[in-house]
This record gives sequence, structure tokens and C-alpha cells, in this order.
Amino acid sequence: MTDRKINWDGFLGDVNGIEIIDDPQRVRLKSRDYFWYSPILNDVLRKRTAKLVVVPKNEAEVITVASACAKWKVPITVRGGGTGNYGQAVPLVGGIILDITRLDRVLEIGDGFVRCEAGMLVEQLDKEVHKKEQELLMWPSTRSQATIGGFIAGGSGGIGSVRHGVLRDDGNVRSLRIVTLEEEPRIITLEGPDIQKAHHAYGTNGIITELELALQPAVDWHHAVVLFDDYAEGVRFGEALCRDDYDIYLISVVDKRFSPFYRQLKDYFPNNKHAVFSMVGPTTIAQFKADAASRGGEVSLMISDDELVQEGITPSYECAWNHTTLQALKSDRSWTYLQIAYPQPYDPTADQAIMAEFGDELYLHHEFARERGDYQLFALPLLKFSSKERLYQISNRFEELGCGVFDAHVYTIAEGGMKVVDPVQMAFKHEADPYGLMNPGKTSREEADAVLAEYGEG
Ligand SMILES: Cc1cc2nc3c(=O)[nH]c(=O)nc-3n(C[C@H](O)[C@H](O)[C@H](O)COP(=O)(O)OP(=O)(O)OC[C@H]3O[C@@H](n4cnc5c(N)ncnc54)[C@H](O)[C@@H]3O)c2cc1C
Repeated sequence: MTDRKINWDGFLGDVNGIEIIDDPQRVRLKSRDYFWYSPILNDVLRKRTAKLVVVPKNEAEVITVASACAKWKVPITVRGGGTGNYGQAVPLVGGIILDITRLDRVLEIGDGFVRCEAGMLVEQLDKEVHKKEQELLMWPSTRSQATIGGFIAGGSGGIGSVRHGVLRDDGNVRSLRIVTLEEEPRIITLEGPDIQKAHHAYGTNGIITELELALQPAVDWHHAVVLFDDYAEGVRFGEALCRDDYDIYLISVVDKRFSPFYRQLKDYFPNNKHAVFSMVGPTTIAQFKADAASRGGEVSLMISDDELVQEGITPSYECAWNHTTLQALKSDRSWTYLQIAYPQPYDPTADQAIMAEFGDELYLHHEFARERGDYQLFALPLLKFSSKERLYQISNRFEELGCGVFDAHVYTIAEGGMKVVDPVQMAFKHEADPYGLMNPGKTSREEADAVLAEYGEG
């Protein structure tokens, strides 16, 4: 990897006293995330690495590093837990990794909110707020490794989203405190709709050091598995659970062909039945069981979080969303995945056509979530990778059938999401990162091409 001519001695002099990692092996490890779920991204990103990792222990040190980066024109990629899927935390053109994980303190827990530093692990944060009988509204299934800042800068929603919506929905994230990349860094606090300026911006427009999130009273979630002979009936059961008066935190419908990947759950998810994995509140359990029975579903597991831990059973959330891909990859590295959104109301004919056309190349699972109050259905089908051309052929077929595809095999924000550059985020980038040093090449294909031309292909 060729770095532009950077005066590293000058930079190091300015960050003197702050922890630096320069061992090439450790730097390489910290330059990776979960991009390798995509064989396409694996080809383009696996050799990309930073020059150094810098590990500030508080916001004052973050400001010192931001200032030095601006002065010496050093590219900077912020890293939380490094669990992102699209190479979000992989430096395309060298520079430094800013490891944010030592900023890990809770600052305040109030009635309905928590303020904390951005490098806290999501699981740790959820444990802290549980001590006050509250809980996070949503989290990624990677909660034990992911940071809360990384979730907001790189993620979208996940477990809990069927109840509370996605991160971008009003009121879920209450404020972000951001350090700008300037010789004299400023602190900008974003609140309300302004959160969108930095949410899902892949750390391209400022360093989040603190944040405030909404909380809910804690619920004793029970992990449930319901078995069905017919996959479509499982989806209909999932739809029936999408009710405001139900206490539901997760609904995930999983094809029976996933069963061999979930060996630990073989007693609850046999290979001749499709499964609905769910997290259900105590007030809804009786009705949930009655609804399952009325649709021919068999409840094979209903267990509290505490009992689950005692018995060493895999939690429902590790059988859902993108943890499905992880479970499959543990057995066979040739699996990858797609990300699909369905038009509402859900019409199963698209999925029926896909299953008929692609057979064992594709295993379906469906995830329910809310966006702006409305229920939505997503799928992250597991796909047996043979070639890039074939992957896009299947992906295009979903689009022909009226579905939306969020491309998981590209590393820029624009290509992966709405296919356009977000003007609000770009305007904020001019303010928070005037030299274009933050995670260069991640906003759009055009920016990536320009950055690679400037810094060299590596
Ligand atoms: C098996 C699996 C399941 C997953 N499930 C979900 C899911 O359900 N929902 C979901 O949304 N995602 C999911 N993800 C993706 C990812 O785990 C989450 O988005 C996670 O919250 C990212 O947190 P992190 O600390 O690992 O972020 P990182 O990977 O370290 O960073 C993510 C992005 O945010 C930037 N960033 C990190 N910290 C900061 C900061 N303080 N300031 C500015 N920018 C920053 C980074 O530069 C990078 O671009 C999943 C991934 C895997 C592998």
C-alpha cells in the first residue's frame, strides 16, 4: 500500500504520549472487518492496511489526533469493534486507524435515556442500563464485539427493530457529539433530524465521541422457536405477530435448510421443519403460543434469557439477521448473502419464483422490522457463491420481481444503499472533514476512483 508522502515523524511528534500500535501483524488485524463475507469485497480489500493504529483514551486525545491528521494530511479510519460487513472500517489508502474502544464510559443514565462514550461495547452498555431496569431499543447481533458508536456510524437496526424501528427513526438516537478533522478541531453536537448527517456515514464526516440514546423499561425477553411444515406459513405467522399490542423484540423466519448450520439447536430446529425465531415479552407469551397453534406451528422452545444462559442454548438473535450467514460460514466458506427489501403488502409470488428458479443456490430467511412506524419485511438470503456475474444475475432477478436490493458487495455508501450520494451527509462532510481525510473513498464510486488515483492502487 502506498501512502502519499506523509511526514510520519512530524505526525508522531504531535501525538506523542498517545498509545500507538505499529507491529505490522496487529496493524493488519485492526485494518480488517467482516468484508470477507463477500468474496467480491475480499478480492479488493484483503490487502488494504493502515500504517499505524492510534488508540486514544479520552476525547482530549481524540482531538489531538484529529488535529495532527489535519496538519500532516494523514488519512484516518475510525474503528470500533470492526464487525461491519462492507469494509466500512478498512482503510482504502493507508493512513491511521483510530481505535475508539478505550472511550468506554457511561456518562449518565436517566429516565428513558443514556449518555455514553462511543467506544462502549453494545453488550456492556445494555448491561449497564439494565442495572436501572431499562434496556436499549435495538442492537446488532454482534453486540458482544460491536461498539455503540460503530453501530450508529455503520449499522442500521437489528434486534429490537420490529418493536422500535430503525436507528434513523425519530427519537431513537437523541444526540451525537462529533470532533471535526481540522487543525483546530471543533465539537459539533447533532440532535433530532440532524443525526442523519453522521448516522450510517461510515465515519467519513467526523469522529463520534459521545452519544445519547433513548431507552425503554427492561423486558424479560423469552427466546422462542416455532416450527412449521410450510415456509410461507412461517412468514404469515411472522406477519400476524406484527401488532402494536404484542410485546415482540425479534421475528425471523428461517428455511429448514439452515438447520444443519445450527447444530447446537438440533433438538429445537430439526432439519425437516422451517423455524420462526422470536423474542417475546411475558405479557404476550400465552397469545403467541395460541397464535402458533392456530396456524399449525409447534413451539419447540420458549425460555427466558437467564435459563438460556444457564443451559448454554444459542440465543434467538444469533439465528437471525446476518448471524445466519455467520452460522453457515462456520461450516462452508463458499456461502455469501444478499440484502433484500420487499414492497408492502408482502406478496409471496416473488419468493416463490426465486425458489423455483434458484433452488439450492439460495436459502431464504426473512426478517421483520419497522420503519417510520410501518412494518417492513426484509430478507438476507444465503447464496452459494460461484461468480460475481451469477451473484448479480440473481440479485437483478429480485429487482425484476419488484424487490429492493441493498448491495452487500460494494464498499461505498452510495452504491450500497439508495444508489445516490446523500447531499445532507456530503454538506456535513465539507464542514467536518474539509480535507477529505476521513475514511477516503467510502462515499461514492467516483470518490473511490479519485482517491485510488491520488494515493495509488496499492
Ligand atoms: C454476523 C453479523 C451480524 C450483524 N448484524 C447486524 C445487525 O443486526 N444490524 C446492523 O445494523 N448491523 C449488523 N452487522 C454489522 C455490524 O456488526 C454492526 O453495524 C455493528 O454495530 C458495527 O459496530 P462496530 O463497532 O463493529 O463498527 P466498526 O465495524 O468498527 O465500524 C463501522 C463503521 O463506523 C465507523 N465508525 C466506528 N466508530 C465510529 C465513531 N466513533 N465515529 C465515527 N465513525 C465511526 C467506522 O469507520 C466504520 O465505517 C452485523 C455484522 C455481522 C458480521
